[in-house]
Amino acid sequence: MIDTSSNDHPDTQPRHEMHGLYPKAESVADFQRHLAAVHARIENACQRAGRDPASIRLLPVSKTMDEASIRLAHAAGLRFLGENKVQEAYRKWETMSDLVDLQWSIIGHLQTNKAKLVARFASEFQALDSLRVAEELDRRLQAEGRAMDVFVQVNTSGEASKFGLEPDAVAGFLRGMPAFSALRVRGLMTLALFSSEASRVRECFILLRSLRDRLRQETDIGISLNELSMGMSGDFEIAIEEGATVVRVGQAIFGARAVPDSHYWPGADPKHPS
Ligand SMILES: *Cc1c(COP(=O)(O)O)cnc(C)c1O
Repeated sequence: MIDTSSNDHPDTQPRHEMHGLYPKAESVADFQRHLAAVHARIENACQRAGRDPASIRLLPVSKTMDEASIRLAHAAGLRFLGENKVQEAYRKWETMSDLVDLQWSIIGHLQTNKAKLVARFASEFQALDSLRVAEELDRRLQAEGRAMDVFVQVNTSGEASKFGLEPDAVAGFLRGMPAFSALRVRGLMTLALFSSEASRVRECFILLRSLRDRLRQETDIGISLNELSMGMSGDFEIAIEEGATVVRVGQAIFGARAVPDSHYWPGADPKHPS
């Protein structure tokens, strides 16, 4: 059963009408303005929810953005960027190795054979949903003498095309995690349904939060699940109202992408929310 008891903000709507229309950031000043607008939205959502804005981490998502754009973002003060595809991220990491304080978070599905790359350069992996990937990532990290923060991705929308574990499979999965000492499990991650119906979007976030709360009480899991990574440009206010601690925001900071979302999310049709 989904707990809807804390749903005190039923009026907050997704903002998918801006999808694909956000202006491109072409200067440091543009980035600063877009960031200020996103922070204002975060603060408003926090105010409605009675939360401290400092409890929300904004993870800017730079997928499809070129080197020039990322260098401007860095100049505007961004130091931690999310990328959906490993090879794209790895290329950027190599090209911009002079930006020594820039860190990368992989937020998209990973195939086992790419775990080696992730272990080499990423600081965080948010889309863990397979034991084989966990094993391989741990092995490669041990070899590199590194450790990494990870989030377990959960499919909260019930869409077959979405990656992530089924909610019922998460407890069992987490019980296997302490075996991988290079993986520091921080929490859960999800993508909500891409819908203009606020209540259906909110349900995905409520599901992730209730799952996290329930798992926290299962003491045999032995992992402190503090983080909830949920919410993107079009729906992060709702995610914050439902407990997000990390919001992953691309377009609202960098501008609309030229590459369609279906390149990153199988089955996505950005122009037509369901
Ligand atoms: C692209 C992406 C985002 C950000 O989406 P925007 O609409 O650009 O804010 C968030 N999470 C994941 C997994 C993504 O691939």
